[in-house]
Amino acid sequence: MIRANVRVNGIVQGVGFRPFIHKQITEYELLGWIRNTSDGAEIELEGTEEHIDCFIADLWTRAPKLAVIESVDFDKFHDLKNYTEFKIIESKSLDHRNTLISPDVCICDDCLAELRDPKNKRFRYPFINCTNCGPRFTIIKDVPYDRPKTTMGVFPMCPECEGEYKTITDRRYHAQPTCCSDCGPHLIWKDEEGSEIRAKDSAEDTVLVRKAQEYLKSGKIVAVKGLGGIHLACGFEDPEVPLKLRRRKHRDEKPFAIMCRDMDVVRRLCEVTPEEEKILTGFRRPIVLMNKKEKGSLLQISENGFVGIMLPYTPLHYLLFDEEGGIDSLVMTSANISDKPIMYRNEEAYEELAGIADGFLLNNRDIHVRCDDSLMWVYRGSEYLARRSRGYVPFPVIMKEELKPILACGAEQKASFCLSKGNYVFPSQHIGDLKNLETLENYEDQIAHFENIFDMKPQALVCDLHPDYMSTEYAQNRADDDSLPLLQVQHHYAHMASCMADNNLNEPVIGVIWDGTGYGTDGTIWGGEFLAGDYSGFQRFGHIDTIRLPGGDRVTKELDRIGISLLKDSGLDWAGRFENAQQIAQVLDMDVNCPKASSMGRLFDGVCAILGIKHKASYEGQGAVLLEAAAEENVTRVYPCEITDGVFTYKLMLQAMLEDLDRGVSAGNCAAAFMNTMVAMALEICAEISGKTGIRKVVLSGGTFQNQYMLSRIMDALEKQSLEPYCHHRVSCSDEGLSLGQLMIANARNL
Ligand code: ZN
Ligand code: FE
Repeated sequence: MIRANVRVNGIVQGVGFRPFIHKQITEYELLGWIRNTSDGAEIELEGTEEHIDCFIADLWTRAPKLAVIESVDFDKFHDLKNYTEFKIIESKSLDHRNTLISPDVCICDDCLAELRDPKNKRFRYPFINCTNCGPRFTIIKDVPYDRPKTTMGVFPMCPECEGEYKTITDRRYHAQPTCCSDCGPHLIWKDEEGSEIRAKDSAEDTVLVRKAQEYLKSGKIVAVKGLGGIHLACGFEDPEVPLKLRRRKHRDEKPFAIMCRDMDVVRRLCEVTPEEEKILTGFRRPIVLMNKKEKGSLLQISENGFVGIMLPYTPLHYLLFDEEGGIDSLVMTSANISDKPIMYRNEEAYEELAGIADGFLLNNRDIHVRCDDSLMWVYRGSEYLARRSRGYVPFPVIMKEELKPILACGAEQKASFCLSKGNYVFPSQHIGDLKNLETLENYEDQIAHFENIFDMKPQALVCDLHPDYMSTEYAQNRADDDSLPLLQVQHHYAHMASCMADNNLNEPVIGVIWDGTGYGTDGTIWGGEFLAGDYSGFQRFGHIDTIRLPGGDRVTKELDRIGISLLKDSGLDWAGRFENAQQIAQVLDMDVNCPKASSMGRLFDGVCAILGIKHKASYEGQGAVLLEAAAEENVTRVYPCEITDGVFTYKLMLQAMLEDLDRGVSAGNCAAAFMNTMVAMALEICAEISGKTGIRKVVLSGGTFQNQYMLSRIMDALEKQSLEPYCHHRVSCSDEGLSLGQLMIANARNL
């Protein structure tokens, strides 16, 4: 017999770690205790050395699903304390330093079984949860995480729930949001008639679920309150129904997501890889962008080859898809209008969704903070995030080194911020485009909330170089108010640093940074950039040629303007290829309001217009989405790729493209050839920079790398050239992920 003292570091608090260990310790025939410490958990054990070794070895693989174990240290002793039991003891001098807060977790299998068990007291109760599942981040108002500091504070536990809560062996031991039909929240239904019906028990909840199902089956639109906000749900078997939702929501063409009852339904709609299935069914329940089973199907849902799929994640979702309801899949889209944040309060839903939703299936459990669904592709078997939000936030991105306490304020589109503490970086949830006051207010509220719940006071601030971003203004005001140093970082350099940090690289790299727009160090707009450097600085080695944008911001919607500009400025034939071309040519001739941008996003838009795939975009980046969708498979040809002093020029490529079109080559074939040319260009310029600098590692970042065609081909091409390419996996390649890079650059400086 020996004694061992084991220290477990990582994310082990607020994830049910202590009860989990308590429950399995009898298997190892060990006695002693477990407690939380300021940086993890400490376990004292007595038993045979063999059993202790076995327990320690198993810790890495046998942990609660939310736990992240970073390190396990232990010492062995021969003097015994002769413990007679295993217990959870009082936490040792627990400061707030590393108290983490769990993301929201989908309903677990145990709760799902109880939800479906007529003999269980929580049968068909839409708010069933336990230590392993349920709402967390979205209901927490303050720390430490206790029920009174959540939106469940207004529901006192009944004696039975309290008994479970206090029983160490119970699945609901210390489950702060636990409740039942007797003591917890209930559903609320409201329809065109206007009066609210509030359920008072599970049976009445069921009646309201049935009403919603009837609505959905008859082609009506229902607002459904979820974990981090309100969705608009509708059927899509009749293609008219999602079109009606588009009209009412003024969401012309942006893709919707679909929630499917189970994997069988998913397989009917999409090709599913084992990795995709694993992520879809995992506890985070993101939306996964998957290949449609038939190209050209579900066009009323998404106009490209992908469709965003998620599985149910709350008990209410499962009830909506139950057998009697006869529903197996629904469009589920965030309820927001005019680019404002997702709605999350009952009253605002009634007010602002009047005329959009026919019925409202809400409830009286308040959401404290908004958190949109996460969104991703699966690339090379792992998550490739477009939006890191519900299910991920507020868990940190773990870095290898200690960081200074910094607030990084992000950019403007897909705004996000992040905070550092120790070796953790806490990225915010999806905030949206910082272009209206409501979004700015949410951004500021969330910064204050994060600083409070993580007990963090920034000692430095970092923001974008763009003078007009609301996030820049916020950072400048904050720096003044709190007398903090502020660093402004070039947009694409921040993207590069973000991808470095994502891959734990801290050495010079080449950055292929392609996106829509960002403010350059020379005051022009950048977006098709080849950089090289590290956290201490960077150099611009190359870029795509500048494109004049007649009409400024108007070009993001009116793609023909870019097409005409590209052809005209390359000295090619533009007349007769576009409507109203003369008028736009005049704007170019006068050179009034024609800012120049070396933007990959705008190049995609312009090519999209030249190929006649789309002339008017309804959302930014649509050109790139449609080029990818149009690209024919197995096209390997490349247009002439002219590069002078690191600058890619368009003339030869566009000339060949026009010849193709005039010969009747399909737009889809040309789209593929165009993207192949971009791959060839990336390869050539990277090889050149590598030759000059000796750097072999290449990071790929910027919103263009959401394009899976480009991502996979550039990764493959660089590898073949024996360069070492890296893409994102922990944060998004879009502007959402850029605050991480800002933070790492600021951390490397003496501010
Ligand atoms: Zn209860
Ligand atoms: Fe960007």
